[in-house]
Amino acid sequence: MKALIMILAAVALTSASAMADVTVNHAGTQPVTPGDTKYFTGKATVESRFQRESPARIGGGIVTFEAGARTAWHTHPLGQTLIVTSGSGWVQEWGKPAQKIRKGDVVWIPPGVKHWHGACATEPMTHIAVAESFEGKTVIWMEKVSDSQYPHE
Ligand code: MN
Repeated sequence: MKALIMILAAVALTSASAMADVTVNHAGTQPVTPGDTKYFTGKATVESRFQRESPARIGGGIVTFEAGARTAWHTHPLGQTLIVTSGSGWVQEWGKPAQKIRKGDVVWIPPGVKHWHGACATEPMTHIAVAESFEGKTVIWMEKVSDSQYPHE
């Protein structure tokens, strides 16, 4: 019976999504928003932001950090994937050395792991960030990355 209900639910979901249209948000047509100064140090901008409706959980955006700019420390309830599309920067897990990231690198941040990411001191960095939401949240923000914590390389 449980299996039958699962199959019926899957069929219902499939036919519901079949009724929706494929949508394209063309580059440059969405607002470019500055990273909130409560959660970012330096200049960061977010464009092409998206969040799919339940039961889908996926959301994300394209984040550009100017040289020296970075997120505050934070966690993601269901983890986060970063795909670096230009420049070079850093990702650091709390208590571990910062790791250099460059164009084409793909980063996985597991659920609940405290970390930050951003540009290196001498060059901007852009990444696509993708995370699934849990109880309406994709991120839990913490304190800023201090100048002494940030690698000046
Ligand atoms: Mn993150």
